[in-house]
Amino acid sequence: MNAKQEKLPNYQLESLCCHHHFEDKKWELNCPFSHEPALIRSCYTDKLFEIKELPGIYRFSCWLPINKILEGSAAPVTYKSEHLAKKLGLSNLHITFNGYWPEKGAWMKTASFKECEAYSVCARNTPNRNKIMVVASAGNTARAFAKVCSENKIPLLICIPEDNLDALWFEKELDDCVKIVATEKGSDYFDAIHLSNIACEIDRFFPEGGAKNVARRDGMGTTVLSAVSTIGAIPDFYFQAIGSGTGAIAAWEANLRFIEDGRFGNHKMKLILSQNEPFTPIKLAWDKKSRDLFSISDDQARKDAAIIDAKVLANRKPPYSLVGGLFDALSETEGEVLSITNKEARMASNLFKELEKSDIDSAAAIAVASLIKKTQEKNFDKNAVIMLNITSGGAERFRQEHKTINAMAEHIFRLNTDKEEIKKVLNNLF
Ligand SMILES: [Zn+2]
Repeated sequence: MNAKQEKLPNYQLESLCCHHHFEDKKWELNCPFSHEPALIRSCYTDKLFEIKELPGIYRFSCWLPINKILEGSAAPVTYKSEHLAKKLGLSNLHITFNGYWPEKGAWMKTASFKECEAYSVCARNTPNRNKIMVVASAGNTARAFAKVCSENKIPLLICIPEDNLDALWFEKELDDCVKIVATEKGSDYFDAIHLSNIACEIDRFFPEGGAKNVARRDGMGTTVLSAVSTIGAIPDFYFQAIGSGTGAIAAWEANLRFIEDGRFGNHKMKLILSQNEPFTPIKLAWDKKSRDLFSISDDQARKDAAIIDAKVLANRKPPYSLVGGLFDALSETEGEVLSITNKEARMASNLFKELEKSDIDSAAAIAVASLIKKTQEKNFDKNAVIMLNITSGGAERFRQEHKTINAMAEHIFRLNTDKEEIKKVLNNLF
């Protein structure tokens, strides 16, 4: 069949607060009624999963809320591990690899699963055609959105902490439609989010939406679509390092769709999530089974963020408490959150490279370390079907094999910059 003839999905949105169903007309991010904080979710007409003959990530478009196909995407790849599995005594370890690894068919040129989100979000129907999308990021998300928007000429403003600017490397120079602004050294992701909120007060700008954007979550959910379609069954365990935990919510939602499909099992994968010590707000709350995160001072959070290797995981405001968020995902799947030190992650990263033969980033190393830790538990079932989500790998290799260019910020804002001054600068960028 000609790829162009594949039809794109039919879907509606559902508020998880009141189960109201509605059409996706205006870049919806919330329940149309002013209910308690809750996620909205996409409901696809096609309940049966089907791989489409479309390029890159769009092979999974049956469960993506999109109305077009963009150029240059790649999909997550799942394979059965031999060497790491053997080392850990596991008989059914499946690695879902997001990144650059040509021998495995993995072609993400930003080497991160954030590409899954970006190619989904930017293909979602939007009435905001002439407006500028705003994305706040700790690094990988910015790199992915910048690539997709640059190559497809979609106006984009990126807000990022200055300390994370080195994450913005690209194979090609960015198109003029993408602009980057930063919050000064010592600031963190939360400060970048704050800056992005100010941008969105300007009429010409609109928020991408983060975890609230169904296209972002369903884009990340393609990791599970890749795993389940390769394995032929819903895994028993799902391992991932988390910052916001949006990927884990997405994994749970994809799992629910497969249960509705019915051909891949009817169980929920146990989410085994991990954070980088000492930045572990989700672990601290979940260990007490608290729906609310415990408060921590801004200064302490910035200090903790500065210590951890996996900077992309330092998220102070994860979508944890709201209906349909991470607390619900962990509750329904009887999940766990582990805490991993820099040292454990570095060892895990070396082990992965030695045994599986690919470099991985510091966040993925946290996930590998959590798998090692979990398999050392006495009662762990070594024959369980395990999905290990390697959220970012092959960046080192990609950068060795390709010349890359670092993008610069157009403007760096001090934390005490006046709001009106910020708006003035941003207005003049585009
Ligand atoms: Zn509602």
